[in-house]
Amino acid sequence: MIHNVIVLGSGPAGYTAALYAGRANLKPLMIDGGVGQGQEMQGAGGQLMLTTEVENYPGFEHGIQGPDLMQVMRKQVQRFDVQIVEEMADRVDLSSRPFTITAAGKEYQCKTLIIATGASAMWLGLPEERPAHEGGLGGRGVSACATCDGFFFRGQHVAVVGGGDTAMEEAIYLTNHCATVTVVHRRDSLRASKIMQERALKNPKIKFVWNSKIERINDPAAGEVTSLTLRNVVTGEQSELPVTGLFVAIGHRPNTSLFRGVLQTDESGYLVTHNDVRTNVVGVFACGDVQDTEYRQAITAAGSGCMAAIQAERLLEAENSGIESTSETW
Ligand code: NDP
Repeated sequence: MIHNVIVLGSGPAGYTAALYAGRANLKPLMIDGGVGQGQEMQGAGGQLMLTTEVENYPGFEHGIQGPDLMQVMRKQVQRFDVQIVEEMADRVDLSSRPFTITAAGKEYQCKTLIIATGASAMWLGLPEERPAHEGGLGGRGVSACATCDGFFFRGQHVAVVGGGDTAMEEAIYLTNHCATVTVVHRRDSLRASKIMQERALKNPKIKFVWNSKIERINDPAAGEVTSLTLRNVVTGEQSELPVTGLFVAIGHRPNTSLFRGVLQTDESGYLVTHNDVRTNVVGVFACGDVQDTEYRQAITAAGSGCMAAIQAERLLEAENSGIESTSETW
């Protein structure tokens, strides 16, 4: 069977693309990212599964929890003719149409492909961040998800590294559980939006250590986090910050390794699109965080998912009427 549309990924971009394609009677197939093991694709629901309160998604007057929002989106697409495969795509062949996508050993073919594989949390690159079975402290005090792990640090002193909205959100959330939260930032000003900055700066449980990098997370030999070794990047001074947990919140990298060498990417690995959502391969569209270096919001992801589905529909319609798109006219 050759599907009209396959949607890869199930964040706001993927669900919106599936919703529009479903309502256009294209009977899309969604490969939702499964449980999200491995580096690529976030797992079903995407990054909002790892967040708390979403206050800026229109339509929810009092805000909504990220996982609840994704659950609502999933239920909404299931009202239409959308088939969901709960797996992670592990290979794509875009050399000719129909395209072939492989997930869990099974091949799926499609006339158009909508890539909404999103982005994943970045790490500092310290050896101590590695998982426990590799001798690190990952999952034993080092985490990239306060919502998932904050509870384990009740009454304790923890640190968050980063100066963006994610770091502020994580720090504020952690104050619900922890005695203190110290934000370690490499500069002396925050990147986060004004409102998030204000909330964090006026929270009495949140302290800031400016102009500092984490050199070492102690103590892998003990199998738990006992402190951070910091280096002030202005004075060169070294210091110890006694904490029992570290939350890494330094941004994200696009999930594009499946498409490396096949689709055009920028220097950071984001898919390059033109006409909003078209990639360099006719019939392949990209939407959401996998191609958005500027806004990276749930609502902009959803908007670009809508655009991708509309463009896929138009391409299929044109082809059904005998109008071919070539790489020159695309
Ligand atoms: P950002 O890229 O905005 O911020 C990353 C932060 O981490 C920066 O402060 C950066 O420092 C720091 N950083 C990056 N690499 C390192 C490193 N190797 N060592 C130490 N620090 C490092 O990422 P976010 O995940 O915070 O946000 C991404 C997008 O999502 C943004 O557009 C944000 O607005 C949005 N967002 C919105 C939310 C909301 O509205 N509720 C919640 C969460 C995210 P520096 O500043 O020096 O570059």
